[in-house]
Amino acid sequence: MLIKNVHVNNQADLVDVQITDGQFTAIKAGIKVRPNEQVIDGQEKLLLPPFIDSHVHLDATLTAGQPEYNETGTLFDGIRIWSERKKSLTKEDVKRRAKQTIMKMVGHGIQHVRSHVDVTDPHLIAAQALLELKHDLKDQVDLQLVAFPQEGILSFPNGKQLMEQAVKEGLDVVGGIPHFEFSTEYGWQSVHFLMALADKYDKLVDVHCDEIDDPMSRHLEVLATEAYERQMGDRVTASHTTAMGSYNDAYTYKLFRLLKMSGLNFVANPLVNVHLGGRFDTYPKRRGVTRVKELDAAGINVSFGEDDVQDPWNPLGDGNMLDVVSMGVYVTHMMGYSQLQNSYKFVTTNAAKTLHIEDQYGIEVGKPGDCILLNEQNFYQTLNRHVEVLYNIRHGRVLAETIPAHTTLH
Ligand SMILES: [Zn+2]
Repeated sequence: MLIKNVHVNNQADLVDVQITDGQFTAIKAGIKVRPNEQVIDGQEKLLLPPFIDSHVHLDATLTAGQPEYNETGTLFDGIRIWSERKKSLTKEDVKRRAKQTIMKMVGHGIQHVRSHVDVTDPHLIAAQALLELKHDLKDQVDLQLVAFPQEGILSFPNGKQLMEQAVKEGLDVVGGIPHFEFSTEYGWQSVHFLMALADKYDKLVDVHCDEIDDPMSRHLEVLATEAYERQMGDRVTASHTTAMGSYNDAYTYKLFRLLKMSGLNFVANPLVNVHLGGRFDTYPKRRGVTRVKELDAAGINVSFGEDDVQDPWNPLGDGNMLDVVSMGVYVTHMMGYSQLQNSYKFVTTNAAKTLHIEDQYGIEVGKPGDCILLNEQNFYQTLNRHVEVLYNIRHGRVLAETIPAHTTLH
């Protein structure tokens, strides 16, 4: 396949990109077309590596309103409503909804997804369903699955055994939810437990960590200490960390030293954080988002996720990472021109680091021929016009193609 005349990664120069046997084989101006080669006219548009959603819950997707809508908009009502819906889960139900959302994502240029899967279920129905789907859809998307204890590890019957069982059944990543455990002590113990479990089975870690507007929620320092002492930092991710938005600056200054030493990754979920955050405030209302700008400036890796697509925690959502980046740059005060131009990193290269797939990701000769063509010349204009992904290409094969809508003014 030959993609003609594109701006790769916002670069000013126009180049051609050639893919042979599923891999990038040449990236330069003026590549000659080979006999019978598929040619895509890049129209001087932006070519990026595929989008990555580094944090989503596919088991709960498309359940908004079942059995009721979350009218308070709190995390806790979301958990209560989901635990009701969970009672009627079947494998077919999970697979049908998750597949529908994944197909939306593929249409919007996503090829890598890290999905948390609720394992506080004695039958692990959702985990088994998504493991099957991961296999079924491997030609469209790389699915990384997190054993996520939605109702706690120490605070749920047989929580530890369920976590270990889920890991043994093949989930890729060990999760946690220390701020939701009954007590701070249980929270700490859950972090020690999940880190030991990941170490034992050689798994990645991604913890829902301090997703609460409580400045006393400080499990992040425990997770970072574990990551540092076990030298697992680049394999460990702290998701949400919204309490950091409420920490005082003196404590945060001290904390950042440890965060940098540990090499931990962070995921913020701007849409859902700003929606669920600040719900117990009158005025002033907090934004409920972690310190993305400061983490990024300190050289700490941060990526963005959509978190929820039409479920008890987010009634909206369309599997489009441009929505996520737009909210992200607004709510974190990252709207300088170069910040906007570079903001695609939160859903591409930074997310690849979070998912630990950097060696197989990016538009470089020798890497898998995965890329997306956006209907604008650079990412600033991509955000401005919220443009379509014209082509989503995986291993040199077109996964999805979009014809832009056309408006006629009278
Ligand atoms: Zn989440």
